[in-house]
Amino acid sequence: MGYRGRFAPSPTGPLHAGSLVAALASWLDARAQGGQWLVRIEDVDGPRCPPGMDAVILGQLAALGLVPDEPPVWQARRGHLYQAALDRLIASGQAYGCACTRAEIAAAAGSRPRHGELIYPGTCRHGTHGRPVRAWRLRVQGSIDWHDRRLGEQHQDLAADVGDFVLKRADGLWAYQLAVVVDDAEQGITDVVRGEDLADNTPRQIALQRALGLPTPRYLHTPLVLAADGHKLSKQNGAAALDLSDPAARLREAAQRLGLSLEAEARQTADVLARLVAQWQ
Ligand code: GLU
Repeated sequence: MGYRGRFAPSPTGPLHAGSLVAALASWLDARAQGGQWLVRIEDVDGPRCPPGMDAVILGQLAALGLVPDEPPVWQARRGHLYQAALDRLIASGQAYGCACTRAEIAAAAGSRPRHGELIYPGTCRHGTHGRPVRAWRLRVQGSIDWHDRRLGEQHQDLAADVGDFVLKRADGLWAYQLAVVVDDAEQGITDVVRGEDLADNTPRQIALQRALGLPTPRYLHTPLVLAADGHKLSKQNGAAALDLSDPAARLREAAQRLGLSLEAEARQTADVLARLVAQWQ
């Protein structure tokens, strides 16, 4: 199958210098390999996505000359695909209903904090004992070894360090992990190129791919852009929206963060992009 890559922004805010690095890297990798590049709007967490932000992001990408080869898809319209995947996992015994509240998980022996979430101690693994199901979880076993094109060989003890993670939340929203795995497979994505902050999610996604019998794409996690205080630049810490009065300059800055360098003569986005594709490897 030919190369198919994607950029998958969550429309919680406009693109910033950090998200542009991921967008540009995924575009360059697709172009350099003669592949296709898609855009997927990851709006599963509706309450966190201001109305119209998807259009803002698509407009920013267009201004930068980053135009997808197929019409974008919106995760908010794809709940039937996520439900079908969850149904398969339930039918094969790989997903189970969980009746625990956050407070119960916090109080349970064996729950431990991880990145602001709690590692689930497995209370409902063998049934909810008549209590109503709130969320659905993947039954996790063992560890995952995987390869990243930049970071090299990676290992995570999924069972011990992550635990049975949520696929569908108690508030009815789909978890990012399930949506991304279902969509990458349904869209025939061969190569995932995204920011390094997402690398820690990859073992969960590989476990889900295996549970659903789906192929695992190749992964490349790009360097993060740090804010002046050393934290990752993100919408949450108020990263400024890109100033697109000079889109070619923004592309040159993003390229620099990827270790590519361009003389300032390239003033048109198409010219900048063509020169960068030639440098990408
Ligand atoms: N939607 C995620 C984000 O904006 C990216 C997901 C992905 O590339 O897998 O952080």
